[in-house]
Amino acid sequence: MIRIDLHVHTIYSGDSTIHPKNLVDQLYMHPLIKGVAITDHDTLNGYLQAKKFAKPYEDIIILPGVEVSTIQGHITVLGVEEKSPHMNTIEEVVDFAKEYNGLIIVPHPYRVMGIGDLAQRINIDAVETLNSRSTHLENKMAEKLAFAKNVPRIAGTDAHHPQDLWCVFNEVDAQLDQNEVLESIKKGKVRIVANMKTYI
Ligand SMILES: [Zn+2]
Ligand SMILES: [Zn+2]
Repeated sequence: MIRIDLHVHTIYSGDSTIHPKNLVDQLYMHPLIKGVAITDHDTLNGYLQAKKFAKPYEDIIILPGVEVSTIQGHITVLGVEEKSPHMNTIEEVVDFAKEYNGLIIVPHPYRVMGIGDLAQRINIDAVETLNSRSTHLENKMAEKLAFAKNVPRIAGTDAHHPQDLWCVFNEVDAQLDQNEVLESIKKGKVRIVANMKTYI
């Protein structure tokens, strides 16, 4: 089992103060959490930097991801190391993820920039039902969506500042291996953990 935060932004997102090196150092020092998915807005550069900094460390895992800003709202692809210039709609992002074997995650569906009920009409792999920046009600609505779609539920801090890191995470039944982690998330072998009472 591996503990992993599946939604983190670095300075490459433009609205985050988390430097990839700082993120890797914090992850390495963390007693429990050993993985992070870097889901910057519309760029893989933060992931590529973090991957470089993480090279000397054998017991942590950095997952590639991208939170795509479409005209309908935010949608995340996990497990891809590139992006397409043709991702203006959620349908285009779903097609891209299918082609490149990525996982489609619906982040904060009922917050500003969330895709909300539009998620009903596309194929998705999981819903983020615990986002540490969303309200309790927004997370509850996300949970309802996950049940309606019959897909796994995951957590993400959506951290944009170092102090936002690690307050929620996931326990995934997998080894420190990217494909195994992604496969387990897809199969629902994942449990949400809230580190701080305020997020329960
Ligand atoms: Zn977002
Ligand atoms: Zn985000």
